[in-house]
Amino acid sequence: MLIRMLTIASILLCSCVATASEQPQELKVTALSENVFLLTGERVGANVGLVIADEKVLLVDTLVSKHSEKLIKVVEKLTKLPVTYIVNTHGDFDHTGVNEHYRKQGALVIGQKNISHSNVDCDLCFKDYLALNLSDDIQIEMKSAVAHSFSDAIVHIPSANVVFMGDILTNISHPTFYQGGIAGLDKAISYALNLGDEQTKYIAGHGFVINAKQLQSYLAVTKELANLVVLKHRQGESSEAIFKSPEFSLLYSKFDNKVSFQDTNPERLKRFIERILATEIQIDSKIDVRQYAGQYQWDDTTPFQLVHEDNQLLYKESSQRIVELLPVSETKFMVRGQMGGYYQFALNEQGNIDSVTYVTSKESSYVATPVAQ
Ligand SMILES: [Zn+2]
Repeated sequence: MLIRMLTIASILLCSCVATASEQPQELKVTALSENVFLLTGERVGANVGLVIADEKVLLVDTLVSKHSEKLIKVVEKLTKLPVTYIVNTHGDFDHTGVNEHYRKQGALVIGQKNISHSNVDCDLCFKDYLALNLSDDIQIEMKSAVAHSFSDAIVHIPSANVVFMGDILTNISHPTFYQGGIAGLDKAISYALNLGDEQTKYIAGHGFVINAKQLQSYLAVTKELANLVVLKHRQGESSEAIFKSPEFSLLYSKFDNKVSFQDTNPERLKRFIERILATEIQIDSKIDVRQYAGQYQWDDTTPFQLVHEDNQLLYKESSQRIVELLPVSETKFMVRGQMGGYYQFALNEQGNIDSVTYVTSKESSYVATPVAQ
């Protein structure tokens, strides 16, 4: 089952501009306010936030584990206090790699509840919203969202007028709204915009700090791009033709390196188009997905659930994965945001489920069966 896990893990990560030969640099510290710092570095994982209150310290995300020393060193330079809390903006490993180091020293890990379907051990999980007082004058507000992943959390620090967006905002590459689609991205960014004013600093999971006006542009351009790609695809145009179309180039050029890095690598842009199409899949709306809900187990006895929630059919596997399955026929379900791979249901004469096969993008397949209740 390891191969299945690796396939799954590799598709959930955000796109990365770096190559393996490039060496990571030391972390750069930028003061966002008197108490809030942004720690950034190239090729070390995601951006990190550090909040230093009178007696408590909070980190927003924690790099990839192999760069743990860089983070630990910088935090120790800035404060002698131990880290009290870590808030993860979602469960991807590039944001959570140093969690365990601090957790062993007593830090509590906070995340929205769906983070339990990743490898993060969450000590304080919230469903929709959580507010935490770090001191009398520093409050941290966390709100769940589904845009980049099912475990997205928007982290707002009103006293500093700062909002950490996680990978809901990735402006060092193209946008990565894989799990929530355009609707999820719109909802999450609209919420974030309502928190602030013209001076608010919005921190990307990967990339640079932007203001509200730039965040509005980021959303508007992304929505226009996605609409264009979907429309052209439904008119029968190939991804290559969409990529070469003047309309796509014109819209993409609105990412002007101030709103978002204008990545011109053709392979990554074609991949972006494919990802949009994998996110905005046209479903067969006649299918009642509730009948697929239930407990299942893979042939190695690993259990998972298909859950009907908010009109969606969700695949949930503890400590591993949560994704949405989208019906394109009675027996075939695609995974939102995933290029290639699908779930194939075998139904018996009564229309009940005999088995479900996950066919990966490389045509390997894994079989699961429903577990009798
Ligand atoms: Zn990331």
